[in-house]
Amino acid sequence: MADPVTTENPTPLARRGLMFILSSPSGAGKTTIARRLLQSDAGIALSVSATTRPIRPGETDGKDYHFVERGEFDAMVEDHAFLEWAHVFGNSYGTPKAQIWAGLKAGTDFLFDIDWQGTQQLSQRAREDVVPVFILPPSIDELRRRLIARGTDDKNVIEARMERARAEISHWSDYDYVVVNDDVDRCYEQVRRILEAERLRRERQTGLVNFVRKMTAPDAV
Ligand code: 5GP
Repeated sequence: MADPVTTENPTPLARRGLMFILSSPSGAGKTTIARRLLQSDAGIALSVSATTRPIRPGETDGKDYHFVERGEFDAMVEDHAFLEWAHVFGNSYGTPKAQIWAGLKAGTDFLFDIDWQGTQQLSQRAREDVVPVFILPPSIDELRRRLIARGTDDKNVIEARMERARAEISHWSDYDYVVVNDDVDRCYEQVRRILEAERLRRERQTGLVNFVRKMTAPDAV
């Protein structure tokens, strides 16, 4: 016979995974926050997108992105292989379905580094699983300063990124959480706490249903 369920001996706390979305204009520090979260928390995995954009120095195919040819990307769209996809900066980006559904079912949380278009699509498809978080730069001047300090782009590219940043920020109302990144440590800590709190939402903790039922039964130990 199975051991009785008590507070000292709870049932395994099965929980469906959640889809943790981080969006921000480029230069707001999202990549740093995402990396820290992935390194420090074994329960969350990166949703690796497919993209047609060329690989950058320091990136690894299959880890940062699945770098694919245009034909392959279009075929995946045809096959409905994406949970969402969008054109960003003249390239296409999409979230492959296959890896995500099985992982969510098994209780893995996924981190999505996607833009507002992808966030809208995921929210329409699976609102109850989606936790959308927007990271704002402390000011538009600071954003420009950070883009210049990177030293990777010329003036025209920086102005194009600023234009795109304004457009991205205008969609902030699609997000449940908004964090201002004026201090990267504090921003990381706030994002981490959002994830922790969302994991504890009652409706996500399906594994607790039987546990609580047994606890509240008249003959509970
Ligand atoms: P980058 O080329 O700098 O890595 O990414 C450019 C933009 O595309 C970023 O805002 C990033 O969040 C977004 N992005 C990356 N992957 C996806 C994806 O699978 N779907 C959508 N909708 N956006 C993505």
